[in-house]
Amino acid sequence: MSRTTSTTINDLRRLAEQATNLARAIRAAGDRLRRTDDEPTRRAGFRLDEAVSAADRVTGELITTADYLTRIANRGTCAADWGLCPEHGNTLAGSGGRSWCQRIGCRRRWDHDRAGLPCTEPAAYQVRDTAGGETLLCTGHANDARQRLIGARLTPITTGRKR
Ligand SMILES: [Zn+2]
Ligand SMILES: [Zn+2]
Repeated sequence: MSRTTSTTINDLRRLAEQATNLARAIRAAGDRLRRTDDEPTRRAGFRLDEAVSAADRVTGELITTADYLTRIANRGTCAADWGLCPEHGNTLAGSGGRSWCQRIGCRRRWDHDRAGLPCTEPAAYQVRDTAGGETLLCTGHANDARQRLIGARLTPITTGRKR
């Protein structure tokens, strides 16, 4: 992991903690207002509920960003910058930060945007395109390349480890 990335991840996690504390402090202030006997004072506190939600959203965005940066830093040895279903390939759909394989019967789901993040699978093939460019790809991405890159040559790579 690069120093910039690890520093940023730490910063984001620290900021998320601050946002959580901020939400807690605002909630406490709102609770105090709700306990007063004066009706206009109680009513004036309604915006604080909105402020708590905003701080909670900030926490969520910061944590998700730190999580994505961690996933990118720990990417697999496959060179593809997007994920797929390890069994079915280019079949992912996603929404609201979640993703799943659309193939009937495949129950794979992920709690993040797998298609929008680098592949986490180990490289299994060396793929050479007709222009001579070489990349290391996992089985799924190699199959995808075989269908999309006319004339691509796929060579299985050995990891040096016997299975
Ligand atoms: Zn699948
Ligand atoms: Zn891959």
